Amino acid sequence: KVVEGEKLRKKLHNTILELKGNIRVFCRVRPLLSEDGVGAEANVVSFPSSMEAQGRGIDLAQNGQKHSFTFDKVFTPEASQEDVFVEISQLVQSALDGYKVCIFAYGQTGSGKTHTMMGNPESAENKGLIPRTLEQVFETRQSLQAQGWKYEMQVSMLEIYNETIRDLLSGFDASRPENGGKQYTIKHDANGHTHVSDLTVVDVQSSSKVSSLLRRAAQSRSVGKTQMNENSSRSHFVFTLRISGVNESTEQQVQGVLNLIDLAGSERLSKSGSTGDRLKETQAINKSLSSLSDVIFALAKKEEHVPFRNSKLTYLLQPCLGGDSKTLMFVNVAPDPSSTGESLCSLRFAARVNACEIGIPRRQTSMRSSDSRLSIG
Ligand code: ADP
Ligand code: MG
Repeated sequence: KVVEGEKLRKKLHNTILELKGNIRVFCRVRPLLSEDGVGAEANVVSFPSSMEAQGRGIDLAQNGQKHSFTFDKVFTPEASQEDVFVEISQLVQSALDGYKVCIFAYGQTGSGKTHTMMGNPESAENKGLIPRTLEQVFETRQSLQAQGWKYEMQVSMLEIYNETIRDLLSGFDASRPENGGKQYTIKHDANGHTHVSDLTVVDVQSSSKVSSLLRRAAQSRSVGKTQMNENSSRSHFVFTLRISGVNESTEQQVQGVLNLIDLAGSERLSKSGSTGDRLKETQAINKSLSSLSDVIFALAKKEEHVPFRNSKLTYLLQPCLGGDSKTLMFVNVAPDPSSTGESLCSLRFAARVNACEIGIPRRQTSMRSSDSRLSIG
C-alpha cells in the first residue's frame, strides 16, 4: 500500500510538470443521432490521419471549403466516456495535490456538453466526467491515507441563469422562484477561497453520498426548467469540489478546488429576433460567454487588468483561473450538416483559446475575429 502511494505521488508530480501550460483544449465530436434527421450523414467532419495530426486534428467542410484545426486532443464519435476520462484523470489528481482546476464544456446546444460532463451518472458505461472524477478522487484519497494524508471534501452545485445564482442543493422552491430572497453574494478571501453567501455546501465522505447529491441537483434543475418555462441550455451549471488535505506526519497542507462547468449553449442568438424574457436570456448568455473569453485572453496576454467582474461566472471562478491554476476546455461539436456554421464558430473560438496555452497564436487556421461571436473587443 505504501509503495503504491509513493508511486502514485511520483506519477502525480511528473504529470503536473507535464501540464506546464495553464490551458488545454480538447475537442469532442458526438456521434450522429436519429434526431439529426435526413441527410445528416453527409460527411462534414473528418479526422486527418497524418502522423502529426492524428488524434489531434479535425477538419470541417463548409461550402466545399475545408477548415482544419488542431487541439491538444480530438475525440472522435467513437470515443467512450472512459476514453475521455483517461485523458483528464491527471488533472483531477492535481486537485488532490492542491491545484485549482476548471474544466469547461463549450459548444452549441445539442453538441454533447452535458453528456461529457454528467452523462448518465447511474450507468457504468455512460457516466460522464463528474461522476468519474468523484470516484477517482475518493479512491486516490484512500491510497494517500497510507502516507498520512487526511482529506476533507465539500461539494456545491449551482446554476447561473440571467446573471443570477441558483443553489441546486437547497431544494428548488417553485413558489419562491427568486431564491426566496437569498442573495448568493460572491466573496473571495485573502487566501483565495471563494465564499458564496447562503449557498449550500455539503461535506462528503464517499462517492455514494455525492451520487445522491447529483440526483438532487438534477431534480432541482428539471423542476426549475418546467416551472420557470426555461431551458437548461440557457444556464451555466457549476459543480465545485473543494479539497483540503493535511499530512499528519509532515504537517504539509494542500487546498485544491475542482470546478466542472457545463456552459450555456454557445449558439449565436439574434437579439433582433427575441423579445422580453428571451432577449434578457440572450443578453445574459452573450455577456457571460464573452466575459469568459475576455478573461482567458487577458490572462494569456498577461494583461494587468483582467475583467473578472464583468460576469457572475468569471467572478465566481476568479481564484481558479490564471495564476498556477489549470484550465481545460472541451469544445463539443455536433457532426450534422445543419450544425456546420455553429461548429465552425465553436472550433474557431476553441482554436484561439488553444493558442493561449503558449501565448502565441498558432496560425493553423485563418481566424477572422469577426467570425467569432466571442471575439474580444
Ligand atoms: P448539450 O448539453 O450540449 O446540449 P447533450 O449532452 O444533451 O448536449 O447531447 C445531446 C444529445 O446527444 C443527447 O441525447 C446525448 O445523449 C447525445 N450525445 C451527446 N454526446 C454523445 C456521445 N458522445 N455519445 C452518444 N450520445 C451522445
Ligand atoms: Mg446540456
